[in-house]
Amino acid sequence: MKTAELRQAFLEYFRQQGHTIVSSSSLVPADDPTLLFTNAGMNQFKDVFLGREERDYSRATTSQKCVRAGGKHNDLENVGYTARHHTFFEMLGNFSFGDYFKREAINYAWTFLTSEQWLNLPPEKLWVTVYAEDDEAYDIWHKEVGVPADRIVRIGDNGGARYASDNFWQMGDTGPCGPCTEIFYDHGPDVAGGPPGSPEEDGDRYIEIWNVVFMQYNRTADGEMLNLPKPSVDTGMGLERVTAVLQGVHSNYEIDLFDDLLKAASAILGGAATTEASLRVVADHIRSCAFLISDGVMPSNEGRGFVLRRIIRRAARHGNKLGAKEPFFYKLTGALVELMGEAYPQLISSRKQIERVLLQEEEQFAKTLDKGLRLLEQDIAELEGEVIPGETIFTLYDTYGFPVDLTNDIARERGLTLDYEGYERAMESQRERARAASKFGIDYNAGGMSIDGKTEFTGYDRIDGHERIRAVIV
Ligand code: ATP
Ligand code: MG
Ligand code: MG
Ligand code: MG
Repeated sequence: MKTAELRQAFLEYFRQQGHTIVSSSSLVPADDPTLLFTNAGMNQFKDVFLGREERDYSRATTSQKCVRAGGKHNDLENVGYTARHHTFFEMLGNFSFGDYFKREAINYAWTFLTSEQWLNLPPEKLWVTVYAEDDEAYDIWHKEVGVPADRIVRIGDNGGARYASDNFWQMGDTGPCGPCTEIFYDHGPDVAGGPPGSPEEDGDRYIEIWNVVFMQYNRTADGEMLNLPKPSVDTGMGLERVTAVLQGVHSNYEIDLFDDLLKAASAILGGAATTEASLRVVADHIRSCAFLISDGVMPSNEGRGFVLRRIIRRAARHGNKLGAKEPFFYKLTGALVELMGEAYPQLISSRKQIERVLLQEEEQFAKTLDKGLRLLEQDIAELEGEVIPGETIFTLYDTYGFPVDLTNDIARERGLTLDYEGYERAMESQRERARAASKFGIDYNAGGMSIDGKTEFTGYDRIDGHERIRAVIV
């Protein structure tokens, strides 16, 4: 089954179960300051869950464009390292607004995945997780669906543990949330990774394919959990991940859509192998960048535009690593339009705009990319420990336009880390100088990248057994 066929099959299955097919919403959330980009299918229904908005249907199904490159769900740094994360992906979902609840939601998901008429996946390859205290969901899976106890894992809200699984879903720090049950697919012993809930689960063997959330609460800004007017259901299934399962490949980057996109990227980048991590990063990033631009985002130094700029520059750096000497990224737009334009006609109509914006950003960054890389190489060569000093990170950012995560991306390839605190200090003293200078009417930042964001420490991630500092520019 091709990617496009799975998208259609999903919508058709849920249509047959009485769901209204609703179009994907924009990547730029309408009137929602709590959200950077649309990160899940439920976003466009947030007010329906909260009881603030009525629709003329109580069941819906969508294929939603999602970007996870900032904010609460941020996978930017996973791209190039895992087989299953993208900055842009499509989330297939079915929703119940006070209509059905746990029993039906679980049964719908199971039937779609395992029945012969639909995906026909072997049940013994599927694992499920349930929220630790959710005996009801556990019993439905075990007693009604018949999943054996040794493939059902109870998972709490993690209590601070750093495993990937967390069976309490929330779209952001506030808003609708609730316990969930997730379905995993076991890609088999050839792939590294442990079962859900184990410390090794961050590998690509047991892959989370579908999250079924029982929407019950609204988390308020002061952390209170209010009951939603009606218990509801929100689910999200990763289109690319399930396509990989159906096509018998172990990586999203090997599905039909990515295979074609990678070949196009390879042709533009002097024949780089399609298994090359940098090429995969480029193929991933063209999707998020093109879709963001077609949804109206422009590269800038703050907010959404800054995230877009970071993704474009990250792609430019990976292209550079593969030997690109001139702008190349914009040239991938045509291949993407060919592959996804039918499902998303907006790509066709904004093709010229996408190319123009990408080319301009690539040209602008080209002026400083080489020099910045040289400076960094020199510093790394002279480095005594394994930590890149804050001053270097700051100079790269301020003078050469290297977003911090780009510097971190390079550092990580060498097994080095960044001195975020030193960077913060350098940034702070720059701000002070700028403040002092502005009293005399001097534009201190002329020419460089303006200092309008501050880096915020947001915790640690574990990937492939390595601990990394996670920080975002806010
Ligand atoms: P993971 O634990 O693998 O990072 P998640 O728990 O963060 O996934 P959810 O928020 O539950 O993901 O989203 C629902 C589904 O969307 C997931 O089960 C997965 O199939 C898919 N998905 C999530 N993030 C990505 C991504 N970055 N790229 C591709 N698919 C994704
Ligand atoms: Mg995730
Ligand atoms: Mg997860
Ligand atoms: Mg999940």
